[in-house]
Amino acid sequence: MSLIREADVIASVADALQYISYYHTPDFIQAMGRAYALEKSPAARDAIAQILTNSRMCAEGHRPICQDTGIVVVFVKVGMGVTWAAERDLESMVNEGVRRAYLDPANKLRASIVADPAFKRSNTRDNTPAVIHTQLVPGEALDITVAAKGGGSENKSMFAMLNPSDSVADWVLEMVPEMGAGWCPPGMLGVGIGGSAEKAMLLAKESLMEPIDIGELLARGPKSKLEELRIEIYQRVNSLGIGAQGLGGLTTVLDVKVLDHPTHAASLPVAVIPNCAATRHVHFTLDGTGPACLVPPDLDLWPKVHWVADAGARRVALDGLTRAEIATWQPGERLLLSGKMLTGRDAAHKRICALLDSGEPLPDGLDFAGRVIYYVGPVDPVGAEIVGPAGPTTANRMDRFTETMLGKSGLLAMVGKAERGPETVAAIARHRSAYLIAVGGAAFLVSNAIRASRVVAFPELGMEAVYEFEVRDMPVTVAVTADGESVHDSGPKAWRNHFAGIPVAVE
Ligand code: SF4
Repeated sequence: MSLIREADVIASVADALQYISYYHTPDFIQAMGRAYALEKSPAARDAIAQILTNSRMCAEGHRPICQDTGIVVVFVKVGMGVTWAAERDLESMVNEGVRRAYLDPANKLRASIVADPAFKRSNTRDNTPAVIHTQLVPGEALDITVAAKGGGSENKSMFAMLNPSDSVADWVLEMVPEMGAGWCPPGMLGVGIGGSAEKAMLLAKESLMEPIDIGELLARGPKSKLEELRIEIYQRVNSLGIGAQGLGGLTTVLDVKVLDHPTHAASLPVAVIPNCAATRHVHFTLDGTGPACLVPPDLDLWPKVHWVADAGARRVALDGLTRAEIATWQPGERLLLSGKMLTGRDAAHKRICALLDSGEPLPDGLDFAGRVIYYVGPVDPVGAEIVGPAGPTTANRMDRFTETMLGKSGLLAMVGKAERGPETVAAIARHRSAYLIAVGGAAFLVSNAIRASRVVAFPELGMEAVYEFEVRDMPVTVAVTADGESVHDSGPKAWRNHFAGIPVAVE
């Protein structure tokens, strides 16, 4: 009979969360490497190069792959023969592990969890509580899978109660374009079929914990209807041409996972949950012999891809930037920004726009005239860092504020991730502004371009405060031009149906 100690559970969960904050899984690295090798779209290839370069930098530097270090999701299978040396209950042990991991001074992770979600939304400050799924199983061990799920990809989860005669693949194909690029593709899709409403969602999430093996499946051929479905969805989704970051390209999904469960004769519950470029999970077993020992991946696993800042991009000086210069930016063009920019995301926009709409002055020192804003909520710095990993957040959450910002603050342009809504694209064209994207899932690489940082307004908002960053050669892509052309429309159109016939190499 195994005796599971409280200290081992806590230490193992804490180690696992630190581990996945900076190590992609080996299967994910290899699949992303294959996607890079196959990609023909220059913009998508550049984005994947940044993701791979960032991934290796994080593995070497032990800093988070993404500034959004996720909501913690834990699957625990408790062997029924296990005995405990513990004073806390299992949930409290897991949450203590989360707390220790996110507050670890050597690699402090961003606390993103808010309590009272419908009203106050106050940050719990240590990223607790985790979402914990527990199952009793035969055996004498504790089997734990720890994941940290990014908000951008979790926000794109979809569920439907289909008619039993409906096609699951057709429904997924309808949903994926609706997800846009806020889930930071390339990544994975988890599909849950059957059970009840909540069971289908859980199956979809659990399926994402499995390793990427679509290459092997394609090579050997399907042996079941579910495997046929995986291949069908994988090929049809990639044929949509959405590509890395929605820029248009060959690879949108690296794999599609499907789990099913018997359901009611009148029902066909279906869920799809995407996992992003910062796919993070690890599995371990505790059998009473001590905490989990997680082995770092071999650095030779990473493909020899080294993104460099000057590979054909236009250099742009932010200080003194004019609308005339912005008007020359081309859709999909890669830029390297240098100079000073302001930051802001949801909470700061809400306050700024309330002041602008009521004709009140902005806080002392906050002036957007002639400036560019970056939608970001960085990780706190450690050691000599100026700022921690600082990738873009999903821009369309700021859409409702954009007309006010462009019309009343003198703001010139914006940097974020994923597509803007049609009204925002129209506002951008009306104000001869532009919208640029940085790569979601390349946060540590982006933060290396930040040479100075100071808080300008709303320090009480923490990571949501307005900062002024001084950047050098910060890589971005022109996503909406001053004429209102959006690469998130034109890119996928150009690459639609190009995926068909491309072989998937298996290593
Ligand atoms: S890669 Fe994108 S979706 Fe994933 S955690 Fe980072 S910002 Fe969020």
